[in-house]
Amino acid sequence: MIQSLPWHERQWQRIESMRQSERMPHALMLRGARGLGKGDFALRLSCVLLCEGDAKPCGGCRGCRLMACGNHPDFLAVSPAEDKLSISIEQIRALIEHVWLTTQYGGYKVVVLNPAELMTRQAANTLLKTLEEPPGAAVFILAAHQSGLLPATIRSRCQMLDFSLPPASRALPWLSSRLPSQSPAETLLRLADGAPFGALEIAEAGGAEARSDLFRDLVALAAEGADPLAVADGWRGKEVPEVGRWLTTLTMDLIRLKSDQNSPALTHEDLRQAMQPVARRLDLIRLFALLDACLELRWLCERQTSFNPQLLLEDVAIRFAAAGSACS
Ligand SMILES: [Zn+2]
Repeated sequence: MIQSLPWHERQWQRIESMRQSERMPHALMLRGARGLGKGDFALRLSCVLLCEGDAKPCGGCRGCRLMACGNHPDFLAVSPAEDKLSISIEQIRALIEHVWLTTQYGGYKVVVLNPAELMTRQAANTLLKTLEEPPGAAVFILAAHQSGLLPATIRSRCQMLDFSLPPASRALPWLSSRLPSQSPAETLLRLADGAPFGALEIAEAGGAEARSDLFRDLVALAAEGADPLAVADGWRGKEVPEVGRWLTTLTMDLIRLKSDQNSPALTHEDLRQAMQPVARRLDLIRLFALLDACLELRWLCERQTSFNPQLLLEDVAIRFAAAGSACS
């Protein structure tokens, strides 16, 4: 059974009060940044709505058991197909057909759209007609990271449930319990801009190890005279957006430390002691030029324009070595 997350208390209270006053809306939009667990919330809410026990979700009834094995006939979840970037009109047509079928167990018909903003314009228009006059038993749960991308006509049909970034005190115990011990949980959370699932994703992609390797390379470039082209060659085959993210945030921290070695707000706080001697060796003006190169790399990665990442990585490595040699 999906557990409720420690930072979703307020949202569950709202759902409870809707349910108790029998004002469960036909369409609910879960709105908030990526990585806050809205997908988990949508699934657990579906379990609550389809549970046939008393303490919902009870985990033991027919509804809960069918949800647990992904087989409930009154439930449908729609996301972009594996090789697609959007939710198609065909998927929405199948969804509409599903909600108009009589409920198998006499309760709700629940559909989840996640991320809802990935519906094509045609798909959204097709859904709108059903949202305007939904069948009595239907509950639509739309999860959206960027709800502004959805047509206003869709948004106006939904009751909004907002999700905000949890305080670190709420997120960190949850995150730490899911990471191997010694993982830099605070750093991962900062890198994910405070989104707990985002931090978990970075960790699961081997982020912590990748960062250690990269930091070792930067020390070799700045302080040990390593050959920048050989170092950049070692970055070949790594996830370029990830390398870009580490390079940018490590460079920012080095700039902070170069300006003030007691700088309070480091992203990589756990590397402070290891970074201090490196920062001392680096030239501040060249560090800023390096940061520009890192930001350009990230900008290109995000926009997925065609570019040669290896050339940019080589450029960054050369600039890093130059920033070190300028001071030695
Ligand atoms: Zn149940």
